Amino acid sequence: MSIFTKIAEGEIPSYKCAENEEFYAFLDINPLVKGHTLVIPRREVDYIFDMEDDELARFQVFAKKVAVAIKSAFPCVKVGQAVLGLEVPHAHIHLVPMQSEKDMNFSNPKLQLSSEEMAAIADKIYKEFAK
Ligand code: AMP
Repeated sequence: MSIFTKIAEGEIPSYKCAENEEFYAFLDINPLVKGHTLVIPRREVDYIFDMEDDELARFQVFAKKVAVAIKSAFPCVKVGQAVLGLEVPHAHIHLVPMQSEKDMNFSNPKLQLSSEEMAAIADKIYKEFAK
């Protein structure tokens, strides 16, 4: 079972931002900026481009809704989207509220946020998503 499956099933804690029966969104534990979120399918699949067209389309639409919630919670120029998947073999979309393209540089040093700050960020996004 992948670490992200364990997260989606609640076996490993996460800062939940949004969910439905098929997909789950939570804060990246090493955020580039406040509001950096990961979106995953509950179904375990490593490579995003191995997903069937229909599932991939629903995944992207779910990620769009999460991006809208992130932008409301954390005003930014745009929410950037990236797929890397070099570290965790469970398909995921990174959503990053951007003030400039520099915010999408995954080699940047990551923010160190307290668990209280992370919980508050996730809560803000969750409330926007639920609206
Ligand atoms: P990549 O597979 O290259 O897209 O990178 C995986 C991402 O998942 C990194 O940005 C990590 O900070 C993030 N990550 C790894 N483990 C966790 C976790 N337990 N909770 C939240 N984010 C995680």
